Amino acid sequence: MIPFLDLKKINERFDQGFKADFAAFLERGQLILGDAVRDFERAFADYCGVKYCIGVGNGLEALHLILQAYKTLGQLKDGDQIVVSSNTYIATILAIKQAGLSPLLIESNIDSYNFDLDQLSQVKGQNIRGIMPVHLYGQLAPMDAINRLAKKMNWLVIEDAAQGHGATNLAGLKAGNLGDAAGFSFYPTKNLGALGDAGAVTTNDTDLAQAVRSLRNYGTTSKYINEWPGFNSRLDEIQASFLLQKLTLLDQDNARRRAIAQRYLTEIKSDKIFLQEQRCTTDHVYHLFVVRVANRPEFEAYLTENEIGYLIHYPVAPHRQNALSDLGDLSFPVTERIHDQVISIPLSPVMTDDQVGLVIEILNRY
Ligand SMILES: *Cc1c(COP(=O)(O)O)cnc(C)c1O
Repeated sequence: MIPFLDLKKINERFDQGFKADFAAFLERGQLILGDAVRDFERAFADYCGVKYCIGVGNGLEALHLILQAYKTLGQLKDGDQIVVSSNTYIATILAIKQAGLSPLLIESNIDSYNFDLDQLSQVKGQNIRGIMPVHLYGQLAPMDAINRLAKKMNWLVIEDAAQGHGATNLAGLKAGNLGDAAGFSFYPTKNLGALGDAGAVTTNDTDLAQAVRSLRNYGTTSKYINEWPGFNSRLDEIQASFLLQKLTLLDQDNARRRAIAQRYLTEIKSDKIFLQEQRCTTDHVYHLFVVRVANRPEFEAYLTENEIGYLIHYPVAPHRQNALSDLGDLSFPVTERIHDQVISIPLSPVMTDDQVGLVIEILNRY
């Protein structure tokens, strides 16, 4: 059996360090917003190449707090529209709605799984004030085109970097440093994952950083002084210390993910399995390795029979979810086709070469 993702094996590599961290944590007795959060924030800001990192409770709240912070700063207001890809995890869209803003969905491109750039350049809306590109599956969104358009239109650019830790463009800039602000998730399955829920905001904007830092902790500016009606979304001290350790292996893990992806791309040869054209450069950190098949139920049965783990990211498009029925009766045929056909095969930094070879062998027999 090849599991889709062996989280136990991923975290076992840090066993000794985690135990030492926990002992030190008990000893220190700082349980909330202590040295570990501060140290991780510094380390992750440096890693991303930005001035500020603010640790928060999870990825959804990272995105939500960025939008709320722009509202407190007067840069966004209720009902403003935020452009977002129709092919994303629902959290991106929920963050926009929860901030009292209006998501404006754009159709996807079948080759990139990201924005259809023609449709994006023609987008029309009365109150568009921002765009939230998603580095879906670990591949950077087309940020040059997005930033050019955003500059022309005077939009804020907020990256959903929950799947893109460490993805780096040709100029050497990393996810988290490619827009005005970015939200990260450290959910356990992400490329940089905590041992529970965690997230962060990165930005170079001093005012925004200050507003997010305040809003994550009840809108306080100093103890028991509340400037804004804030939230409780603090990064856990113990998770911050675990993340600080795991950050040291992120680049190595991403390189291993790319090496596995490269093998899949060159060695999987089946008329029935469609692989995107991919360059395997540093702009992709292969959070997921996604293929498309015409008959997914049949392929799922084949994988199950051959004991290959898989997941579907995602089976139902956001605009087709009951939770988002208030978006109206939207139709995005390309996005719907993507959601009908995609399937993610095992890829993680702890897979052995033999396991990768076996996945390839079994897929080539399909
Ligand atoms: C995981 C994820 C989120 C949400 O992160 P949580 O930590 O689970 O709240 C948001 N957007 C995308 C694209 C994600 O993959």
